[in-house]
Parts: sequence; C-alpha cells; structure tokens
Amino acid sequence: MSDHIIKAYQSLPVTFSHGDGCYLWDTDGKRYLDALSGISVTSLGHNYPAVTAAIQQQAATLLHTSNLYSISWQQKLADLLCQTANMDRVFFANSGAEANEAAIKLARLYGHQQEISNPQIVVMEHAFHGRTMATLSATGSRKVQAGFEPLVGGFVRAPFNDIASIEAIAENNRDVVAILVEPVQGEAGIIIPDSGYLSELRRICDQNGWLLMLDEIQSGMGRSGKMFACQHETVIPDVMTLAKALGNGVPIGACLTSGKAAEVIQPGNHGSTFGGNPLACRAGYTVLESMLENNIADNAAQRGQQLAEALRKGLANNPDVDEVRHLGLLLAVQMKLPCQALVAMALEQGLLINVTAGSVVRLLPPLVLSEDETAEIARILISCINQFTG
Ligand SMILES: *Cc1c(COP(=O)(O)O)cnc(C)c1O
Repeated sequence: MSDHIIKAYQSLPVTFSHGDGCYLWDTDGKRYLDALSGISVTSLGHNYPAVTAAIQQQAATLLHTSNLYSISWQQKLADLLCQTANMDRVFFANSGAEANEAAIKLARLYGHQQEISNPQIVVMEHAFHGRTMATLSATGSRKVQAGFEPLVGGFVRAPFNDIASIEAIAENNRDVVAILVEPVQGEAGIIIPDSGYLSELRRICDQNGWLLMLDEIQSGMGRSGKMFACQHETVIPDVMTLAKALGNGVPIGACLTSGKAAEVIQPGNHGSTFGGNPLACRAGYTVLESMLENNIADNAAQRGQQLAEALRKGLANNPDVDEVRHLGLLLAVQMKLPCQALVAMALEQGLLINVTAGSVVRLLPPLVLSEDETAEIARILISCINQFTG
C-alpha cells in the first residue's frame, strides 16, 4: 500500500485486476459477484463491448479540444439525453457534485434574474448531493459537513417526504427559488418517498414559481426500473442532474434543464475545461444508446422485483431484519442493528455489497443482471445476514 495517498478513504484490502459483466477478479484470481457497480456507476457491467469499442475508437481519434469549439459527440449526447428525458438543454460536467454545482448556480441566477437578491434553495434532511463546498452544504448530513464550516448559505432544510413542511416554507419564505431533491434518497439508505410526492412538489413549485431540481445522479439511467426515477410519476423537472452511470465508469456529469430553466445560463455564466469532452460524451452516448436499445430499465425492474422477493422470503424469519425496500435495482435491507461487518463477510464469500447509514445493506448491482446472477446475490447475502445475526 502506498503511503503517498491522502487518507480520505478506508479502502478494503482488495485490488481488482479486471472485470467482465457482473463479475470482478482480484489480483489473486478470486472472482466476485458485483452487487454494487462501483456505487451505481457500471450499470452495464464491466467491459461492456459497445462502450469499450467506443472509448477505444475515440481514444485513437480525438480526446479533447475544449468548449472554445463545438464538439459533435457532445451535441449528439445532448440531443439523445434531452429526447429521452423530455428536457431542453444540458450542461456537461465531470462528476455528480459538479452537475449539482451547475444546478445550484442556475437556481441562484434564476432568482437574481427575478430581483430576488438572497435566493434560497429548499433541500432535504438526510439528502446527499456531493462533497464540494456548495454541495456538502446542501447535503443533510452533519458527518459530511463537520469541520468544513463556514458552510455555503442559501439553503433551507425540510424533512424528506413531508409535503406540509414544504407548504409551510412556501407561506413564510419569499426568497425561495427552487427545491433540490433526490427522487429516492440513496446515501441515506434507499429511502423511497410516498407515491405522489414528486407530483406534489411539482405542483408547489408551479404555484410559487420555483424550480423543481431533481438529483438523479444515483436514481437515474435506468436504475429505478424507468430511465429516470421521476418517470414513475410522469413528473418533468425544471432541472435534472445525472452522473454516476452515464459514462459506465468514464467520468461525466450532466445538468439538464427544461422550459424557463433552459434559458437561465448564458455565455460567460458557467464553464468547465474538461466538461463535455469528446471521450466522455461518446462514452455517455454509447451507454445511453445501449440502455435504450436493450430495454435495460425493464430488466432493472424485473430483476429488482426478483431480488426483493427472494430476500424477503429468505429473511422472513430473521428478527433482526426490519424490511427490504426497493425501486428497481435501488435496493436496501434495513437491519435493526449496525451491520458494517457484513461488507467483509460478503467479500469473503465473493459478493460485493455496501452498508450505508450504519444499518442498511445497500445493493446497486449492474442493470444487466441475469436471473441466475440475481438468485446468486440473494443466496449469498441471505446466508451472510443469517450468519451475522445468528
Ligand atoms: C454520488 C452522488 C452525488 C455526488 O456525485 P460525485 O460524482 O461523487 O460528485 C450527488 N448526488 C447523489 C444523489 C449521489 O448519489
């Protein structure tokens, strides 16, 4: 282990050498079933042939020119993304946090354009929006914020899945310009709001002239069983942010806008050196095209159902298991006790999982999962959980 890496992560003592589909191999040749996808990134699995070929071809053609010139793959990806998401325009960044930075800047600019000099954005308790100064300030977790004060101002906090609290803010706060919310809270432990929540937020935003900004960085790109989680309610946001699975491992983020929000950012307001470069955009285009052609979101819906049912059945008699929650392949086993140790137990058994919020086993497997691979995840995880609690 190198001593020259800043100790930002507590990495597990395993190094992967290569991957194929839903499997990874470590440097000792041991095989692992990947039920995490690098935190919802490699949704097409590892080494997906079309994406590999696209990256190889682009690497041998053109990597970077800058946004001082027009970039044809950026335009192609923008057209396909906007058509798929029912949005109008997109700004490309390099990560989720950067996509959210663009959204936050856009909301503030939108406010100032309406003579609101102290624009506020409503954000939720337990939300996660990233680790840059503005996005960690929008995040609803003291653990993420502690030690980094002074935080960026301009955020108003509300409980998640609580329409009454948003109505109360609308009555009392004339400076609000937008709501920023995850359709499903990921880092918080796959917290799925009541159905109708996003539609109600859409209604409140329309009544007050606020922007509805959806952080679909984890829930988007097919993972929820629809291409975008907001499509479960046929809600169209003003702003939607994407990253994670958009490049299947090639870093790319996107801030999509529609209607009035699409006209807010003008030349000079925002920018990025790398954002939207030919390599990342060709990867993103190939990912999106592959997902659409192969009905990847439908497979996520079916395998998510299969996995949730298998886990519920296999864990039904375990008193330490609270519940299994899922929307497509955003899946959580809520335990009644802290369960971080399960990560190492599953690793030992050749299964990659994650524990978040202390007592939630989070599964974000590749969306290309087969029926057999789904059954295998359930079999290993049930055995680990029963061993852990027994
Ligand atoms: C991962 C994530 C982010 C941050 O993305 P980075 O690429 O790590 O900056 C923001 N919002 C949500 C909902 C996420 O899951």
